[in-house]
Amino acid sequence: MRKKIIAGNWKMNGLKQDAQALTVEICGMLKDEVRAELTVILAPPFPFISMVSQLINDSRIHVAAQNCSNQPSGAYTGEVSPAMIHSVGAKYILIGHSERRSYYHETNSLLAEKINLALTHECLPIYCIGETLIQRNSGDHFNIIKAQLQEGVFHLSKADFSKVIIAYEPVWAIGTGVTATAAQAQEIHAFIRKLIAENYDDNTAENISILYGGSCNEQNAGELFALPDVDGGLIGGASLKSRSFINIVKAMSQQ
Ligand code: PEP
Repeated sequence: MRKKIIAGNWKMNGLKQDAQALTVEICGMLKDEVRAELTVILAPPFPFISMVSQLINDSRIHVAAQNCSNQPSGAYTGEVSPAMIHSVGAKYILIGHSERRSYYHETNSLLAEKINLALTHECLPIYCIGETLIQRNSGDHFNIIKAQLQEGVFHLSKADFSKVIIAYEPVWAIGTGVTATAAQAQEIHAFIRKLIAENYDDNTAENISILYGGSCNEQNAGELFALPDVDGGLIGGASLKSRSFINIVKAMSQQ
């Protein structure tokens, strides 16, 4: 059975005390309101990963890094390796967020290297994919999604691929207040699952969690999470307020 997951991407927001308060609030509010099978992931900025990991006192909540290096160690000033991330308590790593792809020119082949390295160091990749508005308007979105999967993760063995979480995040929906409609989200999620079945098999496709991300909030979460191929959400802005985030978690828990 595939996991139901809500992940909060805090991006480059807040100071240590904010990360501390948010973690404590989320842990406190999660109590009893959410089914045990749900996985909640918090992705704080690098300097706070260790603290957030230590503050978490709930087995449903895990920590993710927002990025990692494609190099295992050495003279790469400013980089952070998957082994370092794992050693301070994070189990997951966001790889290929559209902000990394666009501002830092991260390509599918670089992301494939990061995914390989993350898996080597027991970190589970949350691989982010999605098309821009220009790509959607030109009808190219299916090809873009296919290439991101083929070049980013489809080289993995079935055993390794089964550890990956996919996050479909249309770039035009991230931080814009414009959410994909239920029909748009379901269409792409089903397409992703079909590609996985073709590349691996039906069982693998059926068991992979595919999250939706892009202006997901308390109001639209219920409709999106009810879709048959949506297994949860990657939440940006709305993950920075504990009450909003918990309400989104509850929307998933009620499915
Ligand atoms: C994100 O950055 O992954 C994201 C989904 O952001 P937002 O929810 O703010 O659109």
